[in-house]
Amino acid sequence: MNGPSSNATILVVDDQPANLQILAEILQNQYDVRIAINGEKALQIAQQNNKPDLILLDVKMPGLDGYQVLAELRRDEKTCHIPVIFVTAQHDVDNETRALAAGAVDFISKPINPQVVCARVNTHLTLRQREIAFQQLNTELENRIKERTRQVETLNTALQERATQAETANAAKSLFLGNMSHELRTPLMAVIGFTDLLQRQIDEPAVLHKLSRIRKAAGNLSSTINQILDFTQIESGNTAQVTIDFNLAAMLHKINDTIEELAVAKTLAYAYDVDSAIPANLNGDRVKLEQVLLNLASNAVKFTRHGAVSLRASLIEATGEEVKIRFEIQDTGIGIDQSLLEHIFVPFEQVDNTLTRQYGGLGLGLSINRKLIEMMGGEMGVESESGKGSTFWIVITLKRSQTQPAVASRIPPLQSLQTNKARPRILLVDDDFINQELLKFLLNEAGLQCDSANDGEEAVGMVKNTDYDLVLMDIQMPIMDGLAATRAIRLLPERRLTPVIGVSANAFAEDKDRCFEAGMNAFLAKPVAPEVLYSELAKWLIKNDR
Ligand code: ADP
Repeated sequence: MNGPSSNATILVVDDQPANLQILAEILQNQYDVRIAINGEKALQIAQQNNKPDLILLDVKMPGLDGYQVLAELRRDEKTCHIPVIFVTAQHDVDNETRALAAGAVDFISKPINPQVVCARVNTHLTLRQREIAFQQLNTELENRIKERTRQVETLNTALQERATQAETANAAKSLFLGNMSHELRTPLMAVIGFTDLLQRQIDEPAVLHKLSRIRKAAGNLSSTINQILDFTQIESGNTAQVTIDFNLAAMLHKINDTIEELAVAKTLAYAYDVDSAIPANLNGDRVKLEQVLLNLASNAVKFTRHGAVSLRASLIEATGEEVKIRFEIQDTGIGIDQSLLEHIFVPFEQVDNTLTRQYGGLGLGLSINRKLIEMMGGEMGVESESGKGSTFWIVITLKRSQTQPAVASRIPPLQSLQTNKARPRILLVDDDFINQELLKFLLNEAGLQCDSANDGEEAVGMVKNTDYDLVLMDIQMPIMDGLAATRAIRLLPERRLTPVIGVSANAFAEDKDRCFEAGMNAFLAKPVAPEVLYSELAKWLIKNDR
């Protein structure tokens, strides 16, 4: 045991000056010794600022005896921890027990033996000093824990603030993207729509040629905008899976029609093959799968000058509930160098990054495609040889459909929109007068009557007074938006079943959801191709043929 520090202070209390002197002599070499001739004096000294570290207390004294002094010391929180050793001539078991019960730490019997005094004082001072050190350590640890807790709390608050800032920034970004989407698609709808109209009205080959150039450029611009928006949506984690029942052959036919046309225009051979073992009706995110296949097939045509492009679907395995399919899009085009194969799936990376690039594009398509396929639980890859061609593949598991999905009909002839009712009447709601004019043309061309409203409030007023066969409703409008207007229409008892089709330049999945929640029957994203508009109108007008 290490000895106590020598600057400890010992208070010696005894009514006999001779005893005081003996004890003082024994201790003063090692300690700072104070003396008290009675109990009252002892309490005074014990309560001073510079408190003793240990007290040697005589038991039998006139006035306050040792037990009373000890009781007073223990009552006061400033002195209650000072160790007290009783010094007494009455050294028997009863007295010892009584003294320890009263709170004394030890006993020294008279006549005084210096060695015993030194040993006991030493031991109790050491114990006391250890206790103090332990308490200090404890306090220090408690303080450190408090400090750490405070730091963690500060950090947590900072993290929460960051998360809130990130959420706000994300919300601002989504709002910006929504607005950007709206502002880009609205004029594009007019460009594409009016070009389509002119193409139908004009016979002159030279003008038709120029119009087809405008139409192609606008189509490219439209897909570029879609790619940027898709990419940012995926990056911000806002892309939801929308699974539906669909007919695989019908979906592939649609892709086939587009790709065949592109391939023929470049005098490429085109082959298309679907394994007959694949069940016809499946369930999955058809829109995204179609988007990816179309994108890969368009790339195949884009990067092939001679030879052939093919699209194949083969069955890998089928269970009672699921079907695993491998899609392959093969071309005999420029191919990709082995060292660059994985780079092409990195956003904005292209094999050819020079200023003299031969092929346009943002370098976003493949990274979007791979992410979409992975989100659907599938895999996507490529095998390619520079100068010989590439094979992009997708392996994906789709569910078997439990119902018989309706196979989308081909574009209906315009006459089909003129149902039993001589000329169905449509209300067109749009604040953009150019789009209004365009849609009016398209509707009139299909033999439909068309009234127009410039905002939601005007539309609700008109729907109250007229039993329209269908309402084409823009979403973002001044005064009252399309969602509020649709809700108001649904509250009109006579108009609860009037078909309302949302036509919006805000084309994100959540925009669509909001339309359906507001009570719309269908949703069309701007720019709307005339054939898509007609086929949607046909669906609702024929159903609604009252
Ligand atoms: P982009 O819009 O630029 O075509 P993608 O992400 O679709 O972007 O493709 C990235 C790059 O991958 C392309 O720029 C091209 O270099 C290469 N690539 C994609 N498909 C093919 C293909 N079928 N044959 C050769 N190279 C291809």
